[in-house]
Amino acid sequence: MTVTFSKIAVVGAGAMGRGIAQIAAQAGSEVLLVDNQPGAAQRGLEAITAQWTKLQEKGKLDAATQAALVTRLHAVDSIQALADCDLVVEAVVENLEIKRALFRDLESVVPASAVLATNTSSLSVTAIAAGLARPERFAGYHFFNPVPLMKVVEVVAGFKTDRALCDRLAAYAREMGHSAVHTQDTPGFIVNHAGRGYGTEALRIASEGVADFVTIDRILRDQAGFRLGPFELYDLTALDVSHPVMESIYHQYYEESRFRPSVITAQRLAAGALGRKTGEGFYRYVDGAQQVPTEPPAPVLEKLPPVWVSPRAARRPELLRLVHNLGAQIESGASPSSNALILVAPLGFDVTTVAAVDRLDATRTVGIDMLVDDAATKRRVLAGTPATRRDMREAAHALFARDGKAVSVIRDSGGFVTQRVVATIVNIASDMCQQQVCSPADLETAVRLGLGYPQGPLAMGDLYGPTNMLEVLFNMQTVYGDPRYRPSPWLRRRGALGLSLAHQED
Ligand code: NAD
Repeated sequence: MTVTFSKIAVVGAGAMGRGIAQIAAQAGSEVLLVDNQPGAAQRGLEAITAQWTKLQEKGKLDAATQAALVTRLHAVDSIQALADCDLVVEAVVENLEIKRALFRDLESVVPASAVLATNTSSLSVTAIAAGLARPERFAGYHFFNPVPLMKVVEVVAGFKTDRALCDRLAAYAREMGHSAVHTQDTPGFIVNHAGRGYGTEALRIASEGVADFVTIDRILRDQAGFRLGPFELYDLTALDVSHPVMESIYHQYYEESRFRPSVITAQRLAAGALGRKTGEGFYRYVDGAQQVPTEPPAPVLEKLPPVWVSPRAARRPELLRLVHNLGAQIESGASPSSNALILVAPLGFDVTTVAAVDRLDATRTVGIDMLVDDAATKRRVLAGTPATRRDMREAAHALFARDGKAVSVIRDSGGFVTQRVVATIVNIASDMCQQQVCSPADLETAVRLGLGYPQGPLAMGDLYGPTNMLEVLFNMQTVYGDPRYRPSPWLRRRGALGLSLAHQED
């Protein structure tokens, strides 16, 4: 078996170093594992060997292959043993000075032809390379945890990195069974940059009291198909990891408002409510089991008022069909009768603004989020104005719950929950394309594999409609007057023409 790098070293035998060493040996390389803590490299080697034994027991590895793998992996005591390696991947503590010092030492040990790579997730690759005699042979090689299962690697080109070297690292990643994506050396690279939208916008929504954490999670799982809600995800990664990342990326982009962190996580971090690992986060955990409050039942009403649907409602034909199928009497007049429930379906605007601008009776107006095709969602989301009467709110809730589909009633805000979060994700991704952080295709691959979203962010924009995304953002910018919602030029050009977002460069 020929492999791009036949003898490599991994420095740092922690969680990441072990994973990288494991898949490098599996690709066919001879691997040296080194750590500055006595015994750590040997413990790393034993942990990897135990993984292979487990794989063998599960029938995923035969005995001969396992034996060959073990002979390719070595624990060594010092970096002096790396003199004939052709690649060194560093996975030591996330500290600029420590990494710089290590690479300076490595440069004096490894051959001139050797490639040096860092697994940093938040430091600048260019800054780590700054003190090197030959920065052109240095690149970022960003794996995700756990390495054998997270099958994507970001290959990061620093300011002086030789691009041919990035291609070799990408080829080697593929030999290790991973997808390689190429990125510029910008804060967060691809995955941690593209991942800013989901949690930060959800925190923003929660901070406005639009809905509680559980409801926001339910809406994003059921309406938009995310595997985990943003707050469940924070509980899983723990706030002592996530909050500093939010702050770091925000500051590295010189206080870009799209990435602004939230006082909610700052305060929870200070209180030690970190998530699953402390038993208390956005949810409580008893013996490791997440405690989820039960959902209040929908009201059941014998008699429903007639329903008038605004001519400007999003997906109006579908909404009319839905209301009809749910058994309501639909009014067809140009304006609602005096006892009708008034339905609006805004994109980006809040229900209150729509009622005021369209001169509708706000006491009888309820909005529904129609961004997502009703047939494709497991939940409907409603909001009233501050003046909406209780009987009208309950009538709308009862109507939309009639077929058993879950309904959340939230406070009125520009863009409902799904519109806000999805448009923010699509907008950040679009801006990454605008800035040429990476290619649109690599952006999609990195996000699907690195974040596990139901679609890549550009495909997500196409699913909900680039024009709709643009409309949501424009209208939210009007409602909030906040530059975080300004549409990226990349999205504006495509949304204005109704063009697809995926794979279109200009
Ligand atoms: P870890 O704490 O599990 O392991 C780090 C290891 O490096 C330890 O065994 C430590 O003894 C060793 N070490 C520290 N300084 C050293 C030095 N000067 N020389 C040799 N060994 C040294 O850390 P980790 O989670 O494996 O992270 C390692 C790197 O990978 C960091 O840069 C981190 O940001 C990055 N990273 C981590 C994750 C993750 O989820 N854990 C994901 C992607 C990238």
